Amino acid sequence: MSADHSTRLYERAIKKIPGGVNSPVRAWKAVGGIPRFVARGAGAYVFDADKKKYLDFVASWGPLILGHAHPKVLAALKKTAAAGTTFGAPTECEVKLAELVCRLMPSVEQLRLVSSGTEAAMSAIRLARAFTQRTKIVKFEGCYHGHSDGLLVKAGSGLATLGLPDSPGIPAGFARETLIARFNDVATVQELFAHHRGEIAALIVEPVCGNMGVIPPKPGFLASLRKITRRYGALLIFDEVITGFRVGLGGAQALYKVKPDLTCLGKILGGGLPLAAFGGSRKIMSLLAPDGPVYQAGTLSGNPVAVTAGLTTLKLLARPDTYRLLEMRGKRLEDGFTNVLEKHRLKAVINRVGSMMTIFFGLDRVINATEAGKCNRQQFARFFHGMLRRGVYLPPAPFEAAFVSLAHKKTDLDKAIAAFDDWAAGEVKS
Ligand code: PMP
Repeated sequence: MSADHSTRLYERAIKKIPGGVNSPVRAWKAVGGIPRFVARGAGAYVFDADKKKYLDFVASWGPLILGHAHPKVLAALKKTAAAGTTFGAPTECEVKLAELVCRLMPSVEQLRLVSSGTEAAMSAIRLARAFTQRTKIVKFEGCYHGHSDGLLVKAGSGLATLGLPDSPGIPAGFARETLIARFNDVATVQELFAHHRGEIAALIVEPVCGNMGVIPPKPGFLASLRKITRRYGALLIFDEVITGFRVGLGGAQALYKVKPDLTCLGKILGGGLPLAAFGGSRKIMSLLAPDGPVYQAGTLSGNPVAVTAGLTTLKLLARPDTYRLLEMRGKRLEDGFTNVLEKHRLKAVINRVGSMMTIFFGLDRVINATEAGKCNRQQFARFFHGMLRRGVYLPPAPFEAAFVSLAHKKTDLDKAIAAFDDWAAGEVKS
């Protein structure tokens, strides 16, 4: 039998693109096998190059909260693109988007649009350093804030450990400015701040983790971060690249009622096109060029096509009931999966906040990166491939969030639950 289209495309891809992919996790290294090449998407489904249909819970890693190819987003995009895709001059839609985001997130009085979450986090850190005139930053083990040099550090655990880069090519000196704390563990944060008094510019956190699998903050954890950063004169940066417009229109900061100094946005903000942002109080943001001396720029920043996709998406999300619906659908999936686990006596814990969810096999609690790291990765790989064979496309790695969108109907979720039941029956037998 001749190889399928995905395999043939992959063989061509690996010759010209490192690993055959333009972002590493797409290569399925954590689960094995050859990645499916996607030909198109519609609503809650994607179709691969061999015309196989999959119920999609990757959602392009978060942006597609309305599902694929939403007709209203497409119509708006066509209209905008026909009038020119980028000008390198200010446009009205940028102002509209900025006004809308500031209204939805009161901690953001001003914002700057960029093209990726990496840029947003990198620029927010630069701004925090300039504002505080300090150099060190604190991040949490397992949190991802893009791949800029100083942020690509998780280091070993241990208090006051100086950061070690996660990737060759990052000078140790850069990584040394990054201190690592443990998520959901206030004491590790407190110790770092006490030990590095007057040196820490900012603490950056995913208020709900999505990059070590979904891990919600313990009650009071975010409020403690607010207190400690204020006490030591450091800025609190919420990286809401995933959570912004996902856990609520006002993001995790509204859900948990904690006001950060700076916020990073991305993913849903661009409605499936490259768009991200960072913002905060006018006092801090006014340091940014051209008002102030902190340089930051971008040829395609705030281009009308990406901004239109974002604006249209946010307006659709602002309809009543959006987040109640997303919560109900997320809960339906979680409850269905939980029933399957109980029925087949499979050990796993499901962490969920609204429409973002992760299943950790072999564990009964996950509150930080160390615990997440103990999950059964082999079982996850079997689960991933088992679900794929049954037409359900999940993130191809154990430490990622699966996303439910407004395009997932109850029947779609029930299909995923039935697939899980079928896989689990085989899993316990073998
Ligand atoms: N921050 C968070 C919380 C993210 O999840 C991501 C991407 N997954 C980023 C930043 C980086 O965004 P991008 O991939 O758009 O550079």
